Amino acid sequence: LFAGAADFLRPASTLAELPPMDGVEIAFAGRSNVGKSSLVNALTGRNTLARTSHTPGRTQQLNFFSIGGRFTLVDMPGYGYAAVEKAKVAAWTDLIHNYLKGRANLARVFVLIDSRHGLKAIDTDVLDGLDKAAVSYQVVLTKGDALKKGEVEARIRGIQAAIAKRPAAYPEVLLTSSRDDQGIAELRTSIARLLAE
Ligand code: GDP
Repeated sequence: LFAGAADFLRPASTLAELPPMDGVEIAFAGRSNVGKSSLVNALTGRNTLARTSHTPGRTQQLNFFSIGGRFTLVDMPGYGYAAVEKAKVAAWTDLIHNYLKGRANLARVFVLIDSRHGLKAIDTDVLDGLDKAAVSYQVVLTKGDALKKGEVEARIRGIQAAIAKRPAAYPEVLLTSSRDDQGIAELRTSIARLLAE
């Protein structure tokens, strides 16, 4: 699935810059520092893929990558970065909102949550937005290696309970770690299933 080239298609910071709706799109979202770049890199086996979107000043861009011509991976800008000024946050929210609302080929948004911290208020806001836009999403816990074995089950259960009544949430919560490659194969399987639908 991830063999072949991963090509950076384009960045989009306005609606007009979004690429045409062509083929299946899968997006990754999460708070700044959640481990999104690391996860996208682990997933694709490429260390340079998510670097483009990593500078905190450049947080408003959506970055589109073609994965072997099979699907488009969208690296959404990290949210909740405190130092970004209000006007930028508003522009970001607008773009994301418009992108999510109109994107018929967007099969799923993977919402990354730091397994040590669980759902924060800002994550809940993002899930609310996805439910409202009726965009299918799945929670992916990151940095699973940082949890003690005994904490894992409770963390997953807690999240499952929190999303149980959310209309657009996919019930399965994935536990991953880019550091020790945990859950990456499961995430790939999830994506493969979406492409087969
Ligand atoms: P992004 O801002 O969401 O793109 O996050 P990064 O991928 O840049 O990671 C943010 C921080 O979390 C860095 O210090 C990473 O080393 C750390 N990190 C990322 N993935 C993992 C992981 O799987 N386990 C642990 N323990 N730390 C991680």
